[in-house]
Amino acid sequence: MTLANGKKILMIPGPTTVPDEVLQAMHRPAIDIRTGELVEMTDRSLADLKSVFDTTGDTFIYAANGHGAWEAALSNTLSRGDTVLVLDSGAFARGWGEMAEMLGLNVEILQGDWRNAVDANALETRLKQDAGQAIKAILTVQIDTASGVINDIPALRAAINAAGHPALFMVDTIASLACVPFRMDPWGVDLALSGSQKGLMTPPGLSFIAAGARAMAAHRTANLRTHYWDWTFRQGEAHYKKYCGTPPVQMIFAFRKALDMLLEEGLTGAHRRHRLLAEAVRACVGVWAKAGALEFNILDPDARANSVTVVLTPGRDPALLRRFCLDTCGLTIGETIGEITGTGFRIGHMGHVNAPAVLGALGVIEMGLSALSIPHGAGGLQAATDHLANALRANAAETDNAQVAAAQ
Ligand SMILES: *Cc1c(COP(=O)(O)O)cnc(C)c1O
Repeated sequence: MTLANGKKILMIPGPTTVPDEVLQAMHRPAIDIRTGELVEMTDRSLADLKSVFDTTGDTFIYAANGHGAWEAALSNTLSRGDTVLVLDSGAFARGWGEMAEMLGLNVEILQGDWRNAVDANALETRLKQDAGQAIKAILTVQIDTASGVINDIPALRAAINAAGHPALFMVDTIASLACVPFRMDPWGVDLALSGSQKGLMTPPGLSFIAAGARAMAAHRTANLRTHYWDWTFRQGEAHYKKYCGTPPVQMIFAFRKALDMLLEEGLTGAHRRHRLLAEAVRACVGVWAKAGALEFNILDPDARANSVTVVLTPGRDPALLRRFCLDTCGLTIGETIGEITGTGFRIGHMGHVNAPAVLGALGVIEMGLSALSIPHGAGGLQAATDHLANALRANAAETDNAQVAAAQ
């Protein structure tokens, strides 16, 4: 028997659900790439990216996934033999570090683990030992989708300042931009990068870099620069230079539509939506966990991300539950990856995601836990709906909810 024959729901931590409006915006013929609408859209998107990253720095759009932006960030600012310090906390900072190694950089890892955020004190201690200032860049992620952690970017900047260290501070916001607050200039971030396919509601294939004044200054003397990624070339007047070749026309239309939708909601609104929905997920998982068969991967409740929740199923293969969700109900949830492969599941709740999607997903997972006789505390879904109802009641004005406000 199957209950799956309706609209499929995708709740993995990237790629995420693309709004129908965005799909429609890209379903169109190519147009001239040298003048007119496309040129204007590129300029407007580069400008809007500055607001989204919260910077007055320079922005760049690459026809590449996030890995491309990783390489672009390193090759534009560093030189062969430079040392970079990777702040380990899951899979992705390490992945960025592996890329640095192949570029000929000297990679040092500030050892972390998969259940905690990066320790700002450990960073400060390490930087204070670097009296010769050999470390040229510090690489971190804001949210790691493999572990479900959110790192405290202002705290890490404070640690760098406390050590008085001049290294460039580079942050991967691929799984956090437009989901949680990120403030590049106010937080003292020198370079930030992101991808199209998570919080930014666009198909995979574009990535973005924002470079502050210190990153642009480092660019002038960097010797890892290559023509394709090079910022100087991409700041040339001709439109094709901004993509170093043919612009990805349909993707530009898609991204423009997604940006319009995001700016219409407002970044604050998008952050609040992500926060409330994530709190609902955590309220639910917290109840399930009471029976001992499930647990949060991230130990500190304050370090659990608002875009993804990673749940462990100790001693139990989670594949059966994921298969039940998909085959019986039409819901895709993520598997765990890297060091924790096969030990749990990931619920992506970022981008174009709303209450019915999240509550539907939680209901399906809860049904699966029951159907498969996996011990779990009763009332998880109820805890999620209670949390949202209470939040809406408590803050009807703040959350712009006219119906709830009128009922008070
Ligand atoms: C998804 C993700 C990436 C990888 O992005 P790709 O587009 O697959 O290259 C990098 N960093 C973080 C934090 C991610 O969540």
